[in-house]
Amino acid sequence: MSFASETKEELCRDELSRRCCAQAEAYGVLLFCSRSTGDGVRIVTESAAFARRLPLLFKKAFRLRFDGQPAEPWEGAGKRVFTVEDRDKLSQIWETFGSDPRETVAHHINFAVLEEEHCRTAFFRGAFLAGGSVTDPAKRYHLELATSHYSVSREMSALLVDAGFAPKETTRKSNYITYFKQSEAIEDFLTAIGAPLSAMAVMNAKAEKAVVGGVNRRVNCDAANLDKAVEAAQEQIEAIRRLEARGALEDLPPKLRATAELRVEHPELTLAQLSELMDPPVTKSCLNHRLRKLLELERKGG
Ligand SMILES: [Zn+2]
Repeated sequence: MSFASETKEELCRDELSRRCCAQAEAYGVLLFCSRSTGDGVRIVTESAAFARRLPLLFKKAFRLRFDGQPAEPWEGAGKRVFTVEDRDKLSQIWETFGSDPRETVAHHINFAVLEEEHCRTAFFRGAFLAGGSVTDPAKRYHLELATSHYSVSREMSALLVDAGFAPKETTRKSNYITYFKQSEAIEDFLTAIGAPLSAMAVMNAKAEKAVVGGVNRRVNCDAANLDKAVEAAQEQIEAIRRLEARGALEDLPPKLRATAELRVEHPELTLAQLSELMDPPVTKSCLNHRLRKLLELERKGG
């Protein structure tokens, strides 16, 4: 099951308690479903959980049944279509929200029916169930609400801003999209509309990415340090070879000479490893000091 389907299933566990909220949720469904005009309503969903909820939702909100709905059982994949075509039913539905069914081509959100916060939350939930989707957070952060009504999209954004969100807007084919790209906004939205488990899944995905990111950063950092060590070793070895070519190695004090020989013998070792190989062993800083001395002698032509 996709992450979006799981989220919708979680949302559908929410009981239909208040009638005002059932109406608000149905309002969200109507404004974000495939088609809703005065001539007919058509709700298409792939979510089995939402398909089970819809008849109950419309019964609670409007005390009516769909004219067309899929045959049970609704388990498994596939699209499920719910329709209302009966004039009286359509009038009743639209009048609930103060709109005339003959003038519902260009819908607007009637804010008056969403004054209470519980109703607004239910409206968001309905919009998400009918026209929303959320991407698996392991892949990327994206949650969107799509509607074919321009004004509804603008007004939905305004409602979301009012609720403390900062949604973005775009268009896709003939749909107007309101969306979030930030994980925090997605978490907050899912929690608000009744999907705290899905919100937690987003949080967990983010934590996992942070851990993997941290490991990568550390590996990169180690690699960078290693590069520096290799570069330094090469510089030391070249200097020692030049000293050797000039016959200057023999004239060096025994400790410096032993250091030079060991460096050339073990070009791959770090300073710490090399200092342990010295006989007798020396500290890393002592070895570093000796190598710098060799570089200095080479520069002075010694
Ligand atoms: Zn309510």
